[in-house]
Amino acid sequence: MTTAPADPLPRALGLLKQVWGYDAFRGVQGEIVRTVVEGGNALVLMPTGGGKSLCYQLPSLLRPGVGIVVSPLIALMKDQVDTLRQLGVRAAFLNSSLSLQETREVEAALMAGSLDLLYVAPERLLLPRTLELLERVDVGLFAIDEAHCVSQWGHDFRPEYQGLRVLPERFPDIPRVALTATADDRTRADILNVLELHGAPQFISSFDRPNIQYRVANKEGPKTQLLDFIVSEHRGDAGIVYCLSRKSVEETAKWLVAQGIDAVPYHAGLSPRERSTAQERFLNEEGLIVCATVAFGMGIDKPNVRFVAHLDLPKSMEGYYQETGRAGRDGLPSTAWMVYGLADVVNVRRMLASSDAPEEVKRVEAGKLDALLTYCEAATCRRQMLLAYFGEDYPLPCGNCDVCLNPPQVRDMTREAQMALSAAIRSGNRFGAAHLTDILLGHSTEKVLAMNHHTLPTFGVGAAHDEKTWRSVIRQLVSLGYLAAGEHHGLSATGKARALLKGETTLALREDTLVPHVTKRERERTRSTAGRAPVDAHDQPLFEALRAWRLGKARELAVPPYVIFTDASLKGIAELRPGSLATLGTVSGVGQRKLADFGDEVLGIVRDHSDGMVRPSRPPTPMELGARSNTAVLGLLKPRPAAPPAPLIDVPTTSEPDPAVADALRDLRKTLARETGLSAFVIFPNAALETLAARQPRSVAHLQGLPGLGPKRIEAYGDRIIEAINAVLDR
Ligand code: ADP
Ligand code: ZN
Repeated sequence: MTTAPADPLPRALGLLKQVWGYDAFRGVQGEIVRTVVEGGNALVLMPTGGGKSLCYQLPSLLRPGVGIVVSPLIALMKDQVDTLRQLGVRAAFLNSSLSLQETREVEAALMAGSLDLLYVAPERLLLPRTLELLERVDVGLFAIDEAHCVSQWGHDFRPEYQGLRVLPERFPDIPRVALTATADDRTRADILNVLELHGAPQFISSFDRPNIQYRVANKEGPKTQLLDFIVSEHRGDAGIVYCLSRKSVEETAKWLVAQGIDAVPYHAGLSPRERSTAQERFLNEEGLIVCATVAFGMGIDKPNVRFVAHLDLPKSMEGYYQETGRAGRDGLPSTAWMVYGLADVVNVRRMLASSDAPEEVKRVEAGKLDALLTYCEAATCRRQMLLAYFGEDYPLPCGNCDVCLNPPQVRDMTREAQMALSAAIRSGNRFGAAHLTDILLGHSTEKVLAMNHHTLPTFGVGAAHDEKTWRSVIRQLVSLGYLAAGEHHGLSATGKARALLKGETTLALREDTLVPHVTKRERERTRSTAGRAPVDAHDQPLFEALRAWRLGKARELAVPPYVIFTDASLKGIAELRPGSLATLGTVSGVGQRKLADFGDEVLGIVRDHSDGMVRPSRPPTPMELGARSNTAVLGLLKPRPAAPPAPLIDVPTTSEPDPAVADALRDLRKTLARETGLSAFVIFPNAALETLAARQPRSVAHLQGLPGLGPKRIEAYGDRIIEAINAVLDR
């Protein structure tokens, strides 16, 4: 009997809930999973944190045979495999970090068909021995992670990746899915070529990282500014502080430690041992800050990095996007924070000008730097500019960057710009910002007198402004390319300046020095949208207790804490205060295996922190009993000869819940929980919340018969529920 192939999505959704504990696919994940499960190839372009791993992990579970994942980063493989094992997935890796004995064991598991996923370093994959092994086993798919490494144009070129041409040659019928977070047109073309993906669907997601708040400020006292930022917004959070030089890395780390902040340095000058200790501490501890050069970051997959700070300018927009992208992989609010000043701008411009790279390379690099500096000086939404640089249109200001939150004053400063330019020209195009400022302000310093600059017509013309304003004007002129930085920090007017001097063009500049310092109130406001996992003060003690438990558990199992539960899941637990395994299982990120392994302990902590707020214990339901038994959940999941098909979780068939209504109901539930002293789920369960958000009843009469809403609940909360729904829908 033959039947049309069934749509794999319902089964995929069932597994997504069962194994990962997630309710829905994000964006195009579902489409990608469908394509690959059905045996198709695919190219996936998704930003960091977008959820690429699921796009091959889930199909590997749904397709017969083992999924082979090619990954260039040995450090990452162990992390991924640990995470999968905690979910009950049979995963392993093959790379040079394994002993011969360990390698043989993994190979034996592969041959025995007892692996769902195998991570392999490319050089290992290309060994004749590995390729022959793979030809003898059932391979479900090849996933090529960090696929941009095939391209010489990219920044992470790996020659072994070009060897992956053997995949389409030797395994033409096995689906190939290439994934990357960075690919311009040339890189994309290389990926398509090497992996023979012409004609395969390309899934390109927006590169926006909505949970990252972008902020750029004028450098005044960088270390104090950094400390203020950390203390007021990110105390106890993990973060990365990027500095340009090894020396400033060392100094910054030392200084933070002296201020009572847990920080370590990381740069290429440290011994391999020191570096790996720093990296391991970062992964395994909760709130460590790493001060680092750009050498740090590749292969750091920690999902709960809450901020990335730049004390020096990155090289390009690409670098900035990549470095800031290491914040907030878990989707929770995070901050990308940078300070820069005139000296930085002068420095990078000068370094570029004096480098002995070929002219063509210098031109490209200068263009990239220009784009970055324009971004820094921008008076328009940062996110719009960032995405526009990568060719993406973001129609409205984002509301989550410093410019949107605290718009700078922009003023026509053509006149001031002319004064500064003419001070530079008249003094011979060879003095630095400090001297030009003295001339403009009319300061008769020793140097001014010695140079006879007090006789220049520009002497004192700028006395109406203060020194800070002039430094800001000069910085912007350098950033925007009207002044060029030469030797000994000397500034000279460029060709571009001529039109400005003649009054043919005008120049609007930020009055950043006139903007008052961030007030306490503004800081509070910013803090509510940035910073640590935004748990209500009410839920904070429980959240912290869960974090402490997680850390202990992670030590016990020798894995990083986020492998146990993500911050997002802990936040969900702290807010819901589940009183049973069934309710705990509704929290995003709590799949069956974690429920079985950690459920009871987590419920115990919730109970301990919720005197009288959790429903007293009752006999466990069959579902809970099933989940509690420690059977390997996944043994049943793969299509296997003679095994019955896996029992899958019901997939709701109602229309999509309206997120605004769901949010309002969640808020209402919290309020009611507080008013009554009951646990949130006792008020009404998530199932009811989702149904309400999907069906949106407008009167109490329409609440009858909805799942999870018996007559008692309707009597007690019906009016409030309808009020909340109507308030959103009538808005
Ligand atoms: P990437 O590899 O693209 O950087 P990951 O695959 O590491 O991203 O996913 C980033 C985070 O998002 C992880 O914590 C992951 O568990 C979570 N995630 C991925 N897909 C979903 C989903 N459908 N629902 C909820 N969380 C998800
Ligand atoms: Zn914005």
